[in-house]
Amino acid sequence: MAVYAAHLTRTLQGTPSVFQVTAQEALGSTVKPALRKLVEYLAAVYPNKCGWCTRWYHELYLLLDLCLQYHYLKHYAASFSECFYGLLRVPISPSSEFSSGPRLPQALERGSLALLVLVPYLRDKLEQLINQWREDLEDGRLGKTKLDQARKAAVKLYSIAHFVTESTKLIVLARYLTGKGEAPTLPLHILGLTLRDAPPEEPDENTWADFFRNMFNGQLGNAVVTFPMVWRVGSSAVEYGAFAVQLLRWWDARAPLALHALPPPPPPQKEERDARWLNVCPVCLQRWRVPTVLPVSGYVFCYTCISRHLRGAGACPVTRLPAAERELVRLYLDT
Ligand SMILES: [Zn+2]
Repeated sequence: MAVYAAHLTRTLQGTPSVFQVTAQEALGSTVKPALRKLVEYLAAVYPNKCGWCTRWYHELYLLLDLCLQYHYLKHYAASFSECFYGLLRVPISPSSEFSSGPRLPQALERGSLALLVLVPYLRDKLEQLINQWREDLEDGRLGKTKLDQARKAAVKLYSIAHFVTESTKLIVLARYLTGKGEAPTLPLHILGLTLRDAPPEEPDENTWADFFRNMFNGQLGNAVVTFPMVWRVGSSAVEYGAFAVQLLRWWDARAPLALHALPPPPPPQKEERDARWLNVCPVCLQRWRVPTVLPVSGYVFCYTCISRHLRGAGACPVTRLPAAERELVRLYLDT
């Protein structure tokens, strides 16, 4: 009876619009490249500590994705991005209906995990390899050996397979749009699943007041209250983090500032004082000792004169342009 009731409530849930479906797909496909940018940045800043992260990025992401998607499939019967857009997975045929409450049947849960995590990982690895062979082919580095012939064939086969999968994806989406098909995406179609709007979340019995009361009483070990609260904070952080990585990707994709499009600055005016300080330090008016240039103004000083002056005034003694000691550049002249 309970199973039947669960089936009724689930099939009565609303059908998500194609916009929700494509939005969740877009979110799912943005996370990996965006996180890669973050890892590449860290590797560039800390090459010793994080250099290995870029080499093993695919594997690291596989691990992270596996944990994340497993958690969401287990608790919300949806992938991370589906849950983010308030959707959940439901079997199309009522015969494979739920027997374990809100969870997906185990076979479908495992299948979902494989298609969400493992297949994209293998596809990315294969794509990497095929791209390498394609470059070799275009550069004419593939010869007449059997192995090279096989590589050429693999490149062609991959192109055909890619075309077929993309077309099938379109057909599945078109069928969903016209109401002929139940599953909006190819992986869901393969698994015999569809998406529905998730029921509204039940209000949580534990409040932050309970959490802090427990903390003050030294009962943080009270797992019944603490864990769901901490977990909720963690998962919201992951969800908002997804938006942060999308922002990061947008930031990276922006066109670089077109410096050549700006008008060139006017040539510097020749001033009288330039002639006055020809080959002498403008501070001590002597021949330079350790000639040092201040790039902001272009004047050359003795190192001791200019560094002492900058420490006190923080500006070029001639032009009054703001400057710091760290900007000084030593000149190696025959003086
Ligand atoms: Zn000087």
